[in-house]
Amino acid sequence: MRFVLMSSVAASVLLAGCNAEEDKTNRPPPKDPAAVVAATVETVAMKNAGDAADDPAIWIDAADPSRSVIIGTNKKAGLGVYGLDGAELSFRADGRMNNVDIRQNVVLGGRSFDVVVASNRTAKTLDVYKFDGATRTLAPLLQAATAFPDPYGICLYHSAKTGVLYAFMNDSNGTLGQWMISSTDGVKVKADFLRSFMVGEKDSQAEGCAADDRQGLLFVAEEDVGLYAYDAEDLSKARVVIDTVAGGHFTADAEGVAVVYEGEAGGYIMASSQGSNSYNVYDRTAPFAFRGAFVIKDGTASNGAPIDGVEDTDGIDVTSAPLGPAFPGGVFIAQDGANFEGPEKKRALQNFKLVPWPVIREALKLPAPMAEAAPPAAPQ
Ligand code: CA
Ligand code: CA
Ligand code: CA
Ligand code: CA
Ligand code: CA
Repeated sequence: MRFVLMSSVAASVLLAGCNAEEDKTNRPPPKDPAAVVAATVETVAMKNAGDAADDPAIWIDAADPSRSVIIGTNKKAGLGVYGLDGAELSFRADGRMNNVDIRQNVVLGGRSFDVVVASNRTAKTLDVYKFDGATRTLAPLLQAATAFPDPYGICLYHSAKTGVLYAFMNDSNGTLGQWMISSTDGVKVKADFLRSFMVGEKDSQAEGCAADDRQGLLFVAEEDVGLYAYDAEDLSKARVVIDTVAGGHFTADAEGVAVVYEGEAGGYIMASSQGSNSYNVYDRTAPFAFRGAFVIKDGTASNGAPIDGVEDTDGIDVTSAPLGPAFPGGVFIAQDGANFEGPEKKRALQNFKLVPWPVIREALKLPAPMAEAAPPAAPQ
């Protein structure tokens, strides 16, 4: 009798464990009819168990776009660099890096840098790196101490108006801070804290963010509430509510945010609707019209292997830039909170999935992309 009781307790504990894992793959459907796409590449799995992968950023090799990489956070260990085939090229075990962002060709102190920033929850710092394109590795430039007890989301804004580089980092208590990243000699880089404010109520978490350098806008997702557009040049100006959880198109959490440019006026804001395992797409320009939702389901990788769908996404990134034969029209990257491997769908550790951007465009029936503006004609 006692043995039977213990077995049933053990069984229910086991079942609860399984259910907790299944929850991510068995979420309520998106609130809107969702287009269906599939990934063609996935990165190698994290080396840490549990919720480890979080946020990606794309580095583009202008000379050889097929050498472009994904820099991805492992929020239990550090920062990984992955090729477009998903292989890990390098890894820095610098701490519990939560989010990451990049801007290329930024002039600091007269020298050009590909700047990478990451929010370090171990050291409670804002970490700045230079991406070395020749070796495709990250070289540390600065670890800036912050007053934030728990650095969380992070994104860069490279002002088209002034050329100044800013980092926005938030704390998991709902505070959003702004730093200016600069250098006087092109060698030593510094990050000056400028200001901070609350995005919402205290402890209402705001994590995902992304800036539109061309329009001077900062997009911030408040997880339980929705997505905002701030004036990145003047944060004191009234923000615009792009979408909401209550009555809107998000199922909480509203998580990762990314911007894709298609010409001066074209392009989209993309955001993870984590609670429905889907992604929302909005016009990049005001009034930020909702253009639809999509999900990433099981498919076949470009190497012929089965590739699982994507669930419980935290961070995303996207570009429309051609990235060589594998992604000639650009790529969308999503963290996969529930990775499975092989035809038996064996549970594996988390990773990132890569979906060709034109596949998403076509699935959502988005209008033909606007061309990037041609450079002004040479005087006759
Ligand atoms: Ca997660
Ligand atoms: Ca990112
Ligand atoms: Ca989050
Ligand atoms: Ca998956
Ligand atoms: Ca997989």
